[in-house]
Amino acid sequence: MGLSIAVVGSGPAAFYTAAALIEKAPDCTIDMIERLPTPFGLIRYGVAPDHEHTKNVMKAYGRTAQAPQVRFFGNVEIGRELSLSELRGLYDAVVLAVGAARDRPLGVPGDDKEGVIGSASFVGWYNGHPDFVDLAPNLETKNVVIVGQGNVAIDIARVLAKTPEEMARFDLVDHAAQKIQSAPIEDIYMIGRRGPIEAKFTNVELREMGHLVNCNPVVDASQLPATAEGEMSDRDRRMKEKNLATLKGFADAPADSAKKKRIHFSFYAAPVAVLGGSKVEGIRFERTAVKDGRAVGTGQFFEIPCRLVIAAIGYCSAKVPETPFDDREGIVKNADGRVEPGLYAVGWIKRGPSGVIGTNKPDGEACATQITTDLTPSAKAGRNGLENLLRARKARPLSFADWQVIEKAEIANARPGAPRRKFPRVAEMLAVLGAGAVAAS
Ligand code: NAP
Repeated sequence: MGLSIAVVGSGPAAFYTAAALIEKAPDCTIDMIERLPTPFGLIRYGVAPDHEHTKNVMKAYGRTAQAPQVRFFGNVEIGRELSLSELRGLYDAVVLAVGAARDRPLGVPGDDKEGVIGSASFVGWYNGHPDFVDLAPNLETKNVVIVGQGNVAIDIARVLAKTPEEMARFDLVDHAAQKIQSAPIEDIYMIGRRGPIEAKFTNVELREMGHLVNCNPVVDASQLPATAEGEMSDRDRRMKEKNLATLKGFADAPADSAKKKRIHFSFYAAPVAVLGGSKVEGIRFERTAVKDGRAVGTGQFFEIPCRLVIAAIGYCSAKVPETPFDDREGIVKNADGRVEPGLYAVGWIKRGPSGVIGTNKPDGEACATQITTDLTPSAKAGRNGLENLLRARKARPLSFADWQVIEKAEIANARPGAPRRKFPRVAEMLAVLGAGAVAAS
């Protein structure tokens, strides 16, 4: 018998860890524990609906899930059906791959008003994440303000700007499509507290904004420096120069009057207050200058009236009970992935919410190396122990085959040309599996 390993979560970090473990320790058993009935985490619920090609990695993850060493336990939540310490009692190693699914608060007065929504919630809503089905964002607004200039901000702006025809081939969920596509939105402001050189979006994503059917990109040329100055690697400089060239192209292009929407890329402005009563009526910014890489207020202020503010300022992880959690960093404290003997962290819960999907691959490989060098197989109960415990607690774990039944129904329900129509509620997914499937309470 080889090592018994439980991986908590089933997003990219979880799958790259499992794949690396299969390579390094083919006699191991890997049980992937996921609180939702659906695997793939951020690929299913974070990647923008119109970036379907990015979701192709689900095929490779699916092959890993069906390897003889691996078992998927969907609809099982650590802290609900069993505790982390119970799980650690059953397995030689437990790997936390739970990601960063929460919103960071904007941290300015008024950020609790109705109509201020974090990007994790908003993206979850339009991607059919069961936690956010009932979010009901107010899209009855001409202006939308997105705070932050990362790729998530770009995703959100694009989804708000695209026409029904541009989204028809994708899996934007019905509840979001109906609301977004009937909204009176005309101006989408994406506002960065620093300058174009510091903006986090990447060039492919930025350029896409110049090819929208009904939306003109708007850039104030006076905010663009001539070149990418400052300390940075050659690679970063090339990337920043590309962004500058794209933004200059946007600034120089005449607005196409046939296009009804505008996406404003606006720099050097930090939010200072959300305005209104109980609901958002606008947002106030302070003009900034960048000094030593930091945004410094200039004492000049301006306001944008709007009913919706989306804070796309990065995600954070939920506190993981029974772990040494670093509240400031929003990660489980770890030494390059090692948390405590037999407990490991990978992906965003290890290093914070940055990097692309592939960044998790070396993370997963490093974790697998640590596990196989740190540990030898013990007599812990492993998979049998987990199954017994879940049976005793009347849980209803879902297998990967169960997920495939749900997936098949989603594909069968899709609009013509679209890849799938997601079930946004857990109860709907379980209903597909029939009477035997009872949601874990
Ligand atoms: P991000 O790249 O870290 O961007 C966060 C943005 O929010 C930055 O512009 C940041 O400005 C700003 N910000 C942070 N705190 C702020 C505050 N208090 N007030 C005002 N602005 C604030 O985060 P993300 O967009 O959530 O993306 C997360 C990761 O997923 C990134 O690595 C991203 O590349 C990746 N991703 C990739 C894709 C893709 O490849 N297509 C798509 C989506 C996400 P400062 O720089 O000044 O802090």
